[in-house]
Amino acid sequence: MMKCGKAQCACASDPTKRHGPYFELTYKANGKTVNVKLSPEAAPLYRAAAQQYRKLKTLLNRLDKLSKTILRHQAELAESKRHH
Ligand SMILES: [Zn+2]
Repeated sequence: MMKCGKAQCACASDPTKRHGPYFELTYKANGKTVNVKLSPEAAPLYRAAAQQYRKLKTLLNRLDKLSKTILRHQAELAESKRHH
């Protein structure tokens, strides 16, 4: 729910008179924040896609940590072989 920004409009003073619901997609591109207004019909699609994207990023982070851990262990192993 949003205010339209007009001082005379009821939405400016009364939160229950706000307009909407509007759906907005916000993301960063080249360091700039981009806002895209979505239709109520398209909003669930974008919401589902955003959830998938967050899941993917979480998984990638876990994979990244795991591979660093493994790499460190392998490096230690290689190191210990060199000394014995
Ligand atoms: Zn208004």
